[in-house]
Amino acid sequence: MAEVEKRQDRSPVPKDWTYAPAPESADIVKLQDRYELFIGGKWIEAKEHFTTLSPRDESPLAEVAQASEADVHKAVAAAREAFPAWAKLPGSERSKYLFRIARILAERSREFAVLESLNGGKPIKESRDVDLPLASAHFFYYAGWADKLEYAFPNRKPKPIGVAGQIIPWNFPLLMLSWKIAPALAAGNTVVLKPAETTPLTALLFADVLRQAELPPGVVNIVTGDGRTGAALVDSDVDKIAFTGSTEVGKAIQRRVAGTGKKLTLELGGKAANILFDDAALDQAVEGIINGIYFNQGHVCCAGSRLLVQESIYEPAIEKLKKRMATLRVGDPLDKNTDVGAINSREQLDRITALVEAGKDEGAEIYQPPCKLPEKGYWFAPTVFTNVAQSYRIAQEEIFGPVLSVLTFRTPEEAVEKANNTPYGLSAGVWTEKGSRILWMAQQLRAGVVWANTFNRFDPTSPFGGYKESGFGREGGLHGLEPYMDFE
Ligand code: NDP
Repeated sequence: MAEVEKRQDRSPVPKDWTYAPAPESADIVKLQDRYELFIGGKWIEAKEHFTTLSPRDESPLAEVAQASEADVHKAVAAAREAFPAWAKLPGSERSKYLFRIARILAERSREFAVLESLNGGKPIKESRDVDLPLASAHFFYYAGWADKLEYAFPNRKPKPIGVAGQIIPWNFPLLMLSWKIAPALAAGNTVVLKPAETTPLTALLFADVLRQAELPPGVVNIVTGDGRTGAALVDSDVDKIAFTGSTEVGKAIQRRVAGTGKKLTLELGGKAANILFDDAALDQAVEGIINGIYFNQGHVCCAGSRLLVQESIYEPAIEKLKKRMATLRVGDPLDKNTDVGAINSREQLDRITALVEAGKDEGAEIYQPPCKLPEKGYWFAPTVFTNVAQSYRIAQEEIFGPVLSVLTFRTPEEAVEKANNTPYGLSAGVWTEKGSRILWMAQQLRAGVVWANTFNRFDPTSPFGGYKESGFGREGGLHGLEPYMDFE
């Protein structure tokens, strides 16, 4: 033993692992001073504008149009005008446009990744390795379906529904755009898309991809603005609303759409349980738990924000988790070493801070690894709460930040009961070596997606969506085409 220790001492591995900065250059992105509204294939001037910031240092990036109700109506009219010709195009022709978009996104992926990280605050390695490849893959995948709709829905005579109004959030701006636009276009619909107020820039750059792809004018229209623009789109003459965002706004939209005949899909919040059994491969599970909650600063609707640990391995699991948390690098989103980037906005930072304070007040024990947060910008250290009771707000409410709440269980039945004790039902994770237990758990968990021995895996072929207050309708796969089709 002493011999081993001696050898270890002489090992050249440094004790404090320091990283030289590896910043990605932002030069590849050419920002305009001001962006207008993309309607009918042209840039239409708006009356009002607002400034969009970079959350990493609060520096202004560009002025962006605030679309009024009249602007939204113009966009919907352009989409309506473009609809008959687009819907009539043979599927094989529509798929050519989608393939082109997929290819151009892949070609320009570095530019998009840098812009996504600049405007949204997510680490460049995530926008580069997750958001962009997946966004392009969604267009590739749905391009493949555009000329096979009759086979996708045999004997049902599928046809497009018309104009889709699509409202997306700020956590995966370009990826959510792809989830919405790709199936809508493949099915023969036209689109008016409203990006989130804090992250409009990649959607506006996407308009340039459409120009390159020579998509017919009016097939995709992009109107930027705040919640008022979203509300105007909901009330406009569209045939369908597809929304991703908070449960609160989702419910308000559902109320407004009720009785209008408009189709609706809602992809809302979550409070997923990541369930760790005592036979799981612990190191692998800890990686999955870290990814489950700290990926994209926890701004993920399906984040594994509740960790349920079997009591028999509680101590070693928490020890390993804390050790791993201490190695997370928090900082500049454009640094290729960064694991946890900037919080998306001041409002979101305030919301996270308030919920973390509530957790402390309610009696949970907080741990944050020592890390130096940048002075400017919006930052929150990776956080874990132990001693959490089911009733605490941090165990019930969606925090949407890098904050994990740990609870314990003794039996699989108790794990299921605790995991399902939430108003949400979007996702869950199960960590165990036992296949039969995975299958049993997957059947018991009221969640749209259940990952086994992994977490946060996304694929365009796989449907994604929730139960209960996590919404309804599915995106991805064949299931994601259905809400954009009418059937005879
Ligand atoms: P919102 O639900 O407000 O935002 C989602 C989208 O809806 C944005 O484009 C937003 O515009 C738009 N919007 C806002 N109000 C209306 C309205 N009345 N009618 C139509 N569209 C509207 O989310 P927030 O940004 O306010 O985030 C609040 C919380 O929601 C977060 O803390 C998180 O818990 C949760 N959330 C969940 C997401 C998920 O994927 N499940 C995604 C984002 C947030 P604008 O950006 O201009 O406000």
